[in-house]
Amino acid sequence: MTTATATSTRIFNFAPGPAVLPEQCLKQAQQDIWNIADSGIGVLEHSHRGSVIKKVFEEAEADCRKVANISDDYAVIFQQGGSTLQFAMCPMNFLTPDKTADYLHTGAWSKKAIREAKLFGNVHLAYDGTGDNFDHIPGPDEINYSANPEYVYYCDNNTIFGTEWSAPPQTDHLLVADMCSNMFSRPIDINRHAVLFASGQKNLGPSGGTLVIIRKDFLEKANADLPVMLDYQTQVDKGSMLNTPPVFAVYFMGLVFKWILANGGLKGMAKRNDEKAKLIYDAIDGSDFYQAVARPDSRSRMNVTFRTPNEDLDAKFVAEALENDLSGLKGHRSVGGLRASLYNALPMDGAKALAQFMADFAQKNG
Ligand SMILES: *Cc1c(COP(=O)(O)O)cnc(C)c1O
Repeated sequence: MTTATATSTRIFNFAPGPAVLPEQCLKQAQQDIWNIADSGIGVLEHSHRGSVIKKVFEEAEADCRKVANISDDYAVIFQQGGSTLQFAMCPMNFLTPDKTADYLHTGAWSKKAIREAKLFGNVHLAYDGTGDNFDHIPGPDEINYSANPEYVYYCDNNTIFGTEWSAPPQTDHLLVADMCSNMFSRPIDINRHAVLFASGQKNLGPSGGTLVIIRKDFLEKANADLPVMLDYQTQVDKGSMLNTPPVFAVYFMGLVFKWILANGGLKGMAKRNDEKAKLIYDAIDGSDFYQAVARPDSRSRMNVTFRTPNEDLDAKFVAEALENDLSGLKGHRSVGGLRASLYNALPMDGAKALAQFMADFAQKNG
């Protein structure tokens, strides 16, 4: 291992997740792995029942509440199993064979969520984007809600196709949101939601920890007699410490929450994310060489999906970008082409460097 500073040895990372993390948080973690809070013991080695980690969890929750202005009407918990477990946990807690939830099907991740929900109750597909190859977010006239759904489920940012809701779906029913890949990238209207969840590894920290925000009065309707690990109420009652929690993941999310607060909060995140995305979409729209995958009205600020004129050039683009210290730009295998993930922690300079590289590459190969 080298002793060089992080900055001098790091390249720009456009990977979809696990993904780039804020440099300040990584440097703090380097120190705390050795010795956290002057305790003489590293964060990875402390008991979760001790005062040091107890404080880490309390601060992480308090800072999370500050970041998104989350009221006491909501519980904030940290879970394991990723967003994929939330696909199952949510219907397991809130559906039964005689109950229905509405699902808005906008891509590969909602497909997985729908599969899990069907194990526990009825799924009404209020929208199905399969026929359009998920190239857009539905408008109100494309959505048909059922009469009385327990909740309306949507995936706020479709990481693979590169589409994103510009605002939550319009409905009077409570929403369940998969915000895995855009959580805390812009202000959120928490109060329209029953449940919001996000794995760590896109915008919040390392993999292994999942942030779940749940409305407490909705929780009162949850099913009883569930396995304790999969029972939201038990997890809330135990303060995310039913069993040994993913301490490091929660610790790191706590650092990221502090970083968000120190950098303009969600408004600050949104402003920088808009600017970064504009740089890349402008590079696409300003050339005849690149083509965007998502419809213009549905474009994701987090994952920009695009193509060159052919697959050989896509591959050449990925290889030459890496030679220029721009990594992780290959599109998802189901979509092909290219994908630039521009999460909160991706520096503005990274987006600028990519936009410049795109212009140069188009000129040489167009
Ligand atoms: C990555 C991702 C998931 C899956 O997250 P895991 O932590 O791997 O379970 C779910 N939904 C979306 C939108 C994602 O981007």
